[in-house]
Amino acid sequence: MTTAVLMAVILGLLYIGSSDQPESDSVQIPISLKIDAPTPSGVPDSQAYPEAPSLWREVTVAAGDNLSTIFSDTGLSSLDLHQIMQLGQNVQVLKKIIPGRKLLFDISSRGELNALKYELGPLESLLITKSDNGFAANNLTYKPKVFQTFRSATITGNRPSLYESGKYSGLSDSILMELSYVFQWDISFALDLRQGDSYSLLYEENFLDGVKVRDGEILSAQFNNMGKTYSAVVYQSENGERNYYTPDGKSMRKAFIRDPVHFSRVSSSFNLKRLHPIHKRVMPHRGIDYVADRGTPIVASGDGKVSIARQNGASGKYIVIQHGEQYTTKYMHLWKFARGIRAGKRIKQGQLIGYVGSSGWATAPHLHYEFLLNGVHRNPRTVKLPQAEPISDSERERFLEQTAGYVERLHGLSRPPELALTGE
Ligand SMILES: [Zn+2]
Repeated sequence: MTTAVLMAVILGLLYIGSSDQPESDSVQIPISLKIDAPTPSGVPDSQAYPEAPSLWREVTVAAGDNLSTIFSDTGLSSLDLHQIMQLGQNVQVLKKIIPGRKLLFDISSRGELNALKYELGPLESLLITKSDNGFAANNLTYKPKVFQTFRSATITGNRPSLYESGKYSGLSDSILMELSYVFQWDISFALDLRQGDSYSLLYEENFLDGVKVRDGEILSAQFNNMGKTYSAVVYQSENGERNYYTPDGKSMRKAFIRDPVHFSRVSSSFNLKRLHPIHKRVMPHRGIDYVADRGTPIVASGDGKVSIARQNGASGKYIVIQHGEQYTTKYMHLWKFARGIRAGKRIKQGQLIGYVGSSGWATAPHLHYEFLLNGVHRNPRTVKLPQAEPISDSERERFLEQTAGYVERLHGLSRPPELALTGE
């Protein structure tokens, strides 16, 4: 082979390398790695994908987009789209693609669609691949790596709410929401947080390829509220139900939750305001007020039966719920009742019954909530309530076995306080 021929061959190779397969060697983009690892379930080995490095093009769905416009903008064939849409149940999600989600296209150097991936969630995608037999659709699920994380936080003058203190310590909205539900029977997050209250929790975080995709569940938590300490651990019973218990096996669930309005909706300056000039002059104030925007959902604090749902001059639209023989709760100044709420209706704890308003003698939107025991007004936050159901004797050993580690870790990490990983 002469030098000239050799040069021509080399140049030819360079030419091929630079024009026919642009960047095909260097573009081992992370997107293709995401598909390879971790191994997607539900895809037969024969369809292992991708076989060769390829160039994925990413499109984020914008408002008003549909797959047809995206295909034409991307220069893809409408015949391909038509064939893809014939693939049955799996591809129904493509009829209404959701703004903000990602579509990934693997397009050959000749402009043909090799594959299409649509993200269904952080741990799930729809993958459409082309073979000699045409297109095929598969749902891919990814198994995240789960880590246990410990954090703690303190209520301070600058961060007086669960939300503000939690965000400062790096807790997500979803974990804070869950924490408020774990302790909703014991603590009023709307009314009873005080400076110096503190909490710590052990919870799960899910990672995929080193990137956090979402929080898991709270495994154990401890809350010091106004001098009392409440602790909870998660337990999965033999029949698969997951619930929270005290470390010695009493259910966290009780007959009444503390706040019929979620703390996240209650005005934080609430404690400084007393909004009942009319009330106060006319009668002693025997209820609790939750200042919140008109339309804020109100839930029943316990299981029961609606005995009254009507309107009068002072209370406005109001609901009375009878809980067994002894307990009664009242909800006043509502904007409106929830659908189907009327006298005689059976109600579950936490069920939506109406919306905050300012009907009757009220100067601004708020819920006036009353709690009565044997017809006498009581403070629902101090009244003694029936003991919660403990774990059954038959499951006790299993419970202790499963939860001991959570409590130990929580205590090990939270004591002494200067060793806490986060918080103050
Ligand atoms: Zn009131």
